Parts: sequence; C-alpha cells; structure tokens
Amino acid sequence: MKRIFSGVQPTGNFHLGNYIGALRNWVSLQHEYESLFCIVNLHAITVPQDPRVLAQKTRDLARVYLAAGIDPEVSIIFIQSDVPEHAELAWVLTCLARISELERMTQFKDKAAKQREGVGAGLLNYPTLMAADILLYQTDLVPVGQDQKQHLELTRDLAERFNRDYGETFRVPDPFIPKVGARVQSLSDPLRKMSKSDDDAVGSIFLLDDADAVRRKFKRAVTDSGTEIRFDESRPAITNLLTIYQVLTGREAREVEQHFEGKGYAQLKSELADLAVEFLRPLQERARGYSDEELDRLLDAGRERAQQIARATLDEAKRRLGLVGARGRAR
Ligand code: ATP
Ligand code: MG
Repeated sequence: MKRIFSGVQPTGNFHLGNYIGALRNWVSLQHEYESLFCIVNLHAITVPQDPRVLAQKTRDLARVYLAAGIDPEVSIIFIQSDVPEHAELAWVLTCLARISELERMTQFKDKAAKQREGVGAGLLNYPTLMAADILLYQTDLVPVGQDQKQHLELTRDLAERFNRDYGETFRVPDPFIPKVGARVQSLSDPLRKMSKSDDDAVGSIFLLDDADAVRRKFKRAVTDSGTEIRFDESRPAITNLLTIYQVLTGREAREVEQHFEGKGYAQLKSELADLAVEFLRPLQERARGYSDEELDRLLDAGRERAQQIARATLDEAKRRLGLVGARGRAR
C-alpha cells in the first residue's frame, strides 16, 4: 500500500484554508493510502512560541484532526517531537542542503521579514526538517496546499542527492495539491493567503469561530470592483469567495456561477456565512468530545507506530553515511 504523510504546525488558529488546502484531502485519501498525520511542533518553534500555549495548541490540533474525520484506527496521528528521528535526519539533510537553496524559499523570505529580533537559523532550515518528516516514512504522496510546493521540490532534490551520493535510500515523494482550494486567500486582503501566524483575525475564518464571528467576517470581506459573480483571475476577492463556496457545497464551478447569476455580493456573502456556520458547528462539537485520556492513548499509539517506521529508515541512512555505532556497526 502506498503511503502519505502530512502535517500542520500547532501555531495560531487552524483556519478554513488549512482545512480546504490540506486536511480535507487527508480525510479522503486516508482509505487509499497508509497514512501518517503529524502535528509538527518542531516546525512551530522556528519562530518564537509561548511554551504553555504551544503545548495546548498541540493537543487542540490533534482534536481538530480527529474532528475533521481522521480515523485513528486507520491513520497514524502523532506529535513530531515524540519521534526524535525527525530531528536526527533533519541534521543529516541540513548537511546536504545548500544555504543558497534554503535562502531562495519564499516562506523563508516572508517569515524572516517579520522577525524583529533577528532571524533564527531554524527558520532557514525549516525545509530540511520538513524533508526529514517526509523521507523518514518512505512517503509516496504529500497532500499540502500550494504554498508548500516549493518545499516539496526541495525535499525531492534532497532525496535524489542523498540517493545519488550514498546509494538508494529514500523514496522520492510526489506532492498532492488539490485542483480547487490549494490557496485560500485572506478575506481582508485577497492577495495574501490565509495564515495561522498572521494577526489577521478578520481575514481568516478559524475552525473554532462562533456563528457571529463567521457572519461578521464574511460580511466585511473585501470584494472587487464590478458586480458579476464569476471565477476570474483578475478579480481575486470574488474568486476566493466562490472557491470557498464551491468546496463547501461540493458543486462544479459552472453550477456555482449559474446559482449566483443576477444576484449581488451581499447574497453571496450571506449564503457563504450560512454554509460555513453549518459546516463548523458539528466539527466544533466533535473536537470538544475527546477527553485528555483518550487523546493521550491515541497519541502514544501513534508515536509507537510512527517511530517503528522512522527508525528503520534512519538506521539505513546512518549505515549509508558511515555513521557507525560503538561496535563498528550503524544501528
Ligand atoms: P503559519 O502561518 O504558521 O505558517 P499556515 O496557515 O501557513 O500557518 P501551516 O501549518 O504552515 O499553516 O500549513 C499547514 C497546511 O495547510 C499546509 O499543507 C499548507 O500548505 C496548508 N495551507 C496553509 N495555508 C493555506 C491556505 N491559505 N490555503 C490552502 N492551504 C493552506
Ligand atoms: Mg505555513
């Protein structure tokens, strides 16, 4: 059975973009693939985090995975820092990566620009840790949003470089980027993506938003000039709203356009708000339904299953590299 791996950082608040671009696809792919879904807290600390908040967000995110429909009987859900093999392989890949290719990454440039007290080296090395996450599991497919495509390409390059220099060790993964909703934009600035770490509370629909907040945000959403409601790249705000509508209803783009023919922006916004509220309500209820004990049990089991796979790959990589143990053999 082929394998998928993906993750979300326990930073900020999980938003509709994360769901539409990533998590929604994990849920549908989990029955076709052996699946690992990670809460990538080592990635989160590439920018400053409050330790207590980080710990809480890590567990909350596990609840979101479950509530969205990740089945722990089928898929492996685990916390990145619980499997130290991630950090160990990341070091190996850091030694293989070039500073120039890391500095070229769009995410690095964006996030580095926001750091006030100097840019952490972890932010630069973010993609090598992500490559380690993926390669440890001999992953075939990585379901992510459009913004991660560049990191996936680097992951492939690093895997190929290692395989060429040290012998065939890692499977070279393919990205899975959805045709619709791969990049959900901010409701307040349709040229920027919705992001957990931005202070963009009015531009993002958070999974834990109540009905009032959802309605307010859609009502205030920026629109484009003109009145027509149709998909059009030159009108990013309306296209973004229509994309969200399309995903939440599961309809074809043409059907959506037909539905809104002759209607105004206010109608689109109010229908969207209703849809989003109805979508979020059961999800929020399910997320609240998991006790701490249940979560611990689940994350423990996930760690064990993940580590077994990770260790085998790391052992092989170390053997290839000549990193041998005390008795002359790599372990
Ligand atoms: P941060 O601002 O902390 O980086 P984020 O919102 O970008 O948060 P991540 O944890 O970095 O979220 O990414 C989790 C997954 O969600 C990735 O697969 C990413 O591609 C996807 N994703 C993030 N933002 C969007 C978006 N606006 N539209 C579609 N997919 C997205
Ligand atoms: Mg991100």
